[in-house]
Amino acid sequence: MTGQLFISLLNPGIGLAFAAAFFLMWLQRRERYIAYAAGAYLATAIAFLFQDVVPAMPMELQRLPANIGFLATGALFAAAIIGRYGLPIPWRAMAIVAALSTAVFTWFLLAQPSIPARIYAISVGAGAIALMVVRALWPIERPHLIDRVLFWIAALSAANLLIRPVVILTFSGGFDDYVGFQQSLYWTTVQFSQAMVSILAAISLMVAVAIDMLAELRAEADGDPLSGLFNRRGFEAKAAAMLRRCADEARPVSLLIADLDRFKSINDTHGHAVGDAIIAAFGALARTASPAETIAGRIGGEEFALLLPGSGVESARQLAEAIRTGLQAACADRIPATLCPTASIGLVAGAPGDGLSRLLRDADQALYEAKRAGRNRVRAFAPAPVLPVATSA
Ligand code: GH3
Ligand code: MG
Ligand code: MG
Repeated sequence: MTGQLFISLLNPGIGLAFAAAFFLMWLQRRERYIAYAAGAYLATAIAFLFQDVVPAMPMELQRLPANIGFLATGALFAAAIIGRYGLPIPWRAMAIVAALSTAVFTWFLLAQPSIPARIYAISVGAGAIALMVVRALWPIERPHLIDRVLFWIAALSAANLLIRPVVILTFSGGFDDYVGFQQSLYWTTVQFSQAMVSILAAISLMVAVAIDMLAELRAEADGDPLSGLFNRRGFEAKAAAMLRRCADEARPVSLLIADLDRFKSINDTHGHAVGDAIIAAFGALARTASPAETIAGRIGGEEFALLLPGSGVESARQLAEAIRTGLQAACADRIPATLCPTASIGLVAGAPGDGLSRLLRDADQALYEAKRAGRNRVRAFAPAPVLPVATSA
C-alpha cells in the first residue's frame, strides 16, 4: 500500500514542481501563456490529489473535482500552447466540451454508476480539447524543432486520450469496483503515461520560452527601436548572409544608401524629438515601400542602407525614387509637413563576387555624388573609366 501511495504522489508532486517553476518564470516574463502553463500544472496536481490521495467522500463525490481538474488541465495546457503562437484560444469550445463531458461523467457517477462510461466521458472530452490544439497549430509554420515537438505532444496526447481507453477497456473487460480500478492496468498506465507527458510537455514549453527569450534578445541586439529597422550590426550580419545566398543562387543584388538632407539644421532648429519622428517615419517608409526580402538598416544617425536581393540597377532606382518622393507624405503623419527633409540616395548594383564593404563603399560614393549635385536626388554608382596607360616608346 505504501508503494501505491508513493506512485499516487508522483503526479501531484510533478504537477506542483512544474507549477512553481512556471510561476517563477511568469514572474520574470509576464506572458499569459506561461501563467496558463502554471495553472495547468496546478490543476493537474489538485486533480491527482483528489483522485488518489484524499480520503473517499460519500458517493465517491471526490471524483467530480478530480475530473473537472483533469479537464481544466487540458484546457489550460491547450491555452498555453495556442497562446504561445498568439493565436485565438478557443475558450468557448473548450468550456462547452468540458461542461458536456462533466455532465455525462456526473450521470454515470450518480444516476447510473459505471466506471468505463466515466472513463470514456473524461477521455473523449480531454481528447477533443487536445484535438483543438492540433487544429489550431495545423496551418502555421513550424520553423524550429521545438514547434514540431509541441505540435506532436498535442497530437500524441489526443491519440493517447482517445485510443487508450478503448484498447485497455476492451482487453481488461472493465472493473467491478473502484479498488479494482485503482489497481488496474488501466489506471497504472494512466498514471505512468500522464507523468511522462507531463514531464515532456513541461520541458518542451520551457525550452520554447527560452528560445523565445533568446530570439527577443537577438532582435534587441540587432534592431534599432527608433526606425524599426536593423541597427548597423544587425544590418551587416543579415546583409552579408543574404549576399552569400545571392552569390550561391546567381541572383542579382543591389544596395542603396539614403541620407537625410540638412538634417542637422532641422534637429538644431526644431529639436531632437522632431528629428526622431523623421527617422521613425523614414524607417516605416523603408519597410512598407521595399520588397519583403529586403534587408534594411539604420547604419548611422540619419543614414540608412537597403540591400535588395533580386534587384538590378533599374528596380533599385525605382525603389529609391519611390522612397525619395514618398518621404514627405510619410512624415506628414507625424510632424508638420513643412519640417520634413528631403533625402539623397546612392545605389549600386552588385557584380559577382562583390562583398558588402565593397558595395557600401560604392553606394556611398554614389550618395556623395547625389549630395554634390544638389541633394534630393538618386544617383547610381558609375565606376571611373579605366584610362589607357600612356606608354612611351
Ligand atoms: P547633409 O545634407 O550633408 O547630409 O547634412 P546633414 O545635416 O544631414 O549631415 P550631418 O552629418 O552634418 O548631420 C547629421 C545630424 O543627424 C547630426 C545629428 O544632429 C543628427 N542625428 C544623428 N543621429 C540622430 C538621432 O538618433 N536622432 C536625431 N534626432 N538626430 C540625430
Ligand atoms: Mg544628412
Ligand atoms: Mg549623414
